Amino acid sequence: MSKPIVAIVGRPNVGKSTLFNALAGEMISIVKDTPGVTRDRIYADINWLDMTFTLIDTGGIEPDSNDVILAQMREQAEIAIETADVIIFITDVRQGLVDSDAKVADMLRRSHKPVVLIVNKVDNFDKFMPDVYEFYNLGIGEPIPVSAASKLGIGDMLDEIAKHFPKEEMEEVEDERPRVAIVGKPNVGKSSMINKLLGENRVIVSDIAGTTRDAIDTEIIWQDRKYVFIDTAGLRRKNKIKEELERYSIIRAVTAVERADVVIITIDATEGVTEQDAKIAGIAHERGKGIIIAVNKWDAIEKDNKTVKQYTQKVREILSFMSYAEIQFISAKTGQRITKLFDMIDMVIENSTLRIATGVLNEIVSEAVAMQQPPSDKGKRLKIYYITQVSVKPPTFVIFVNDKQLMHFSYTRYLENRIRDSFGFKGTSLKFFVRERK
Ligand code: GDP
Ligand code: GDP
Repeated sequence: MSKPIVAIVGRPNVGKSTLFNALAGEMISIVKDTPGVTRDRIYADINWLDMTFTLIDTGGIEPDSNDVILAQMREQAEIAIETADVIIFITDVRQGLVDSDAKVADMLRRSHKPVVLIVNKVDNFDKFMPDVYEFYNLGIGEPIPVSAASKLGIGDMLDEIAKHFPKEEMEEVEDERPRVAIVGKPNVGKSSMINKLLGENRVIVSDIAGTTRDAIDTEIIWQDRKYVFIDTAGLRRKNKIKEELERYSIIRAVTAVERADVVIITIDATEGVTEQDAKIAGIAHERGKGIIIAVNKWDAIEKDNKTVKQYTQKVREILSFMSYAEIQFISAKTGQRITKLFDMIDMVIENSTLRIATGVLNEIVSEAVAMQQPPSDKGKRLKIYYITQVSVKPPTFVIFVNDKQLMHFSYTRYLENRIRDSFGFKGTSLKFFVRERK
């Protein structure tokens, strides 16, 4: 089940990053060796009491004139409307209500997205409450006073946000269709791919309008099988802003990835794997999604009989943390190998939902242990008692051992490789937890 997505929108200096940090704190998930995950504070997974959600800060750039501020706020609001379940609209009690707040509030109201209106910098409730009431004039509901800097009112704010989260029962509606996200930096050819996938197959296209977010997804039928392509509204929009900011493309990637079963990481063949590509790939990997690497614009480069091999090597080198992913060389322009993507999606889904019987799994691991002794430290050797698969998407295993401290990363990696030798698991990461059994 995907986590709800909450986006923060607001003018510069109202306290967006302060609020983000107050919520994310040290809880930001830090995954070593995964590019992009540690440096950026564009998004974070938040755990609060029994709720978890993904928080996105749409702000980031510091515009200098009022015109620019409004234009940028509109863009922020637009991306929040497209991607979030709940929008936090943050204002500043000290600056009071300003014109651009009202304009953005209008946009948000028209979107019919749940909006939680926050009035920040209310460091002293007695003193500032009268000024907070002014924000009722925005017409987007009750203003909630907070002080992001002193972490006041945060609990009430989160309660309000949680009220808008999709109900669990609704999420459990059976939907067998694979959910696919095409991600990649601007101009890599995402829209062209969607259009080709749609056009080539001459299928019935339907925007399935159920919940607000479904309206931005597209169902594609290929050989009697149904697939849902996520977040395609922004891609198919004709007048989309071409030079999309890197921040927005990361936000799109995070939110699409969160909702997807399979992520197609798209690389521009004419540019090779860039740092931004690696960041986006890191997001999908970190979240344990099924993965396909598509190298697009394959028509546009000069090739000889070594090109595929050399290119594959380069991609593998940079995206070494996802060696399990298959690479496909495609052209959205000519349609070359584009429908192969459907077969790959099926394969990835099958592997990410594969369950291995405990008996078989333990046989493989016993053999592996016999072939390569587990590590030891100060005379004490790691003993592996038992391994079992506890869940899928991604396949997740628990290994029971005598002493957790003795389990090296490299040995887990070794076991992973042996398991992959037997069962493949192409296109999906595998997760391992190590537990002690006395
Ligand atoms: P952003 O541009 O919206 O991300 O705003 P920042 O989070 O960078 O905050 C802008 C300024 O407002 C900084 O100087 C913060 O220290 C200050 N600020 C943020 N939250 C509060 C608050 O709750 N109370 C007060 N007094 N100042 C705050
Ligand atoms: P998006 O920003 O990722 O959605 O990228 P677009 O689909 O808008 O494509 C950006 C540019 O790359 C456009 O000019 C496309 O015509 C071009 N393009 C997309 N796919 C291909 C391809 O397979 N081959 C070539 N040569 N050009 C492509």
